[in-house]
Amino acid sequence: MSFWPVPDVMKRSIYELSPRLFTNRGVRFLLLDIDNTLAPYTLHEATPRMRGWVRDMEAAGLRLFILSNNRGSRPETFAAALGLPYRKHARKPFPRAAREVMAQEGFTPAETAFIGDQIYTDTLCARRCGCFAVLVRPIAFSNIWLRLRYWLEFPFRLKARWNNL
Ligand SMILES: [Mg+2]
Repeated sequence: MSFWPVPDVMKRSIYELSPRLFTNRGVRFLLLDIDNTLAPYTLHEATPRMRGWVRDMEAAGLRLFILSNNRGSRPETFAAALGLPYRKHARKPFPRAAREVMAQEGFTPAETAFIGDQIYTDTLCARRCGCFAVLVRPIAFSNIWLRLRYWLEFPFRLKARWNNL
């Protein structure tokens, strides 16, 4: 188990992620964050572009699962609109929910990737579970706390950039 929260891959957006990034390394299962990864906090419904991205991933044989720390109705809303299973209030970076979901869906950590926008929740959870960790830039900083958190993560983002991920 590692607590060094540097992602394996860092991109500006989910739309820069191609299915081959995952299939090439044996990953078949994607644990997808919602808030600021798939949609900004200010957007309350799925878009055609999101649906297209999900369908492209699925067409390549990948299974997607929404794993969100959000306790409200957003996980259900996006899961229903995108036709995906979900688990809300996942308490990332604690690994329990992710491990339960992998076991329930029949995938090993080596076959699983996290896609998220936060180092101290998504990336750290991926590390603790032994999964492939993809970090994307938060879509929007809708309040000062999100921006502050981003800067607290900056050393790890810089390290990832140095590693040329
Ligand atoms: Mg997020």
